[in-house]
Amino acid sequence: MLDRTDNPPLLEIRQVTRRFGALVAVDNVSFKVRKGQIFGVAGPNGSGKSTLFNVITGIPFSPSAGEVLLWGQPIHRLKPHQISRAGVVRTFQKDAEFATLSARENVYASAVYCAQIDSAEAREAAEQALDDVSLARERRGKAASDLSVFERKQLMIASAIAGRPKVLLLDEPAAGLTKPEVSDLSALIRTVHERGITVVLIEHVLPLLLKVSDHLMILNHGAIIASGKPDEVVRNPQVIEAYLGKREARL
Ligand code: ADP
Ligand code: MG
Repeated sequence: MLDRTDNPPLLEIRQVTRRFGALVAVDNVSFKVRKGQIFGVAGPNGSGKSTLFNVITGIPFSPSAGEVLLWGQPIHRLKPHQISRAGVVRTFQKDAEFATLSARENVYASAVYCAQIDSAEAREAAEQALDDVSLARERRGKAASDLSVFERKQLMIASAIAGRPKVLLLDEPAAGLTKPEVSDLSALIRTVHERGITVVLIEHVLPLLLKVSDHLMILNHGAIIASGKPDEVVRNPQVIEAYLGKREARL
């Protein structure tokens, strides 16, 4: 459901830069994410993808320069919890759940923190989020550390959507998954999207990106080298040279 005239965009990144000493991890990056998009982001290791999510969410740091806008309102000076409560929620490349808490408790904690709702409502939101990601009911009482790799991905996404984000930033969610699981993940991302959540998806697994994204942006050395329709972007000679190389042959 690509949105009406949709001006301003849901999320806008304006000339954002993040430096670490002499290293420019994100270099003057600007782009807009429209409501209802699945916006894909790819690029070589170290190209600044995760740093981009860091500066959008303030977790753990803000941009060195530039602006991040949500519905046209600046959010880059807000604290991380204010940004997530405003509707911008991220997942992490590494497991970030509370290992000894059950799946249900993890999602509940996230609902309380992010959506700031009372306990009965949070319990309901948690159960709904677990339903949305199809985590089996009999697994919801298990400690997060006892879940399989794919179940932990379901938990990660349930925890993120329990806070009712407007835009969900997924950082390489397919890492560690088998091919059939990647296919299940793409169905899961589509389900979340159908619930009305706009998605920004960083991913190395290009077939997944090409399957679900309606826009693809490629970073290299912190800068955007291509941005547009996914099938056109992957044919861009600069993208093939910088990123795809021999991988392109496998697409
Ligand atoms: P990607 O997610 O695309 O693999 P990152 O955003 O993690 O890339 O990293 C981009 C660059 O910034 C890399 O060179 C990385 O080493 C550097 N970097 C990331 N975070 C930090 C940090 N906290 N301190 C110093 N350098 C960092
Ligand atoms: Mg990364």
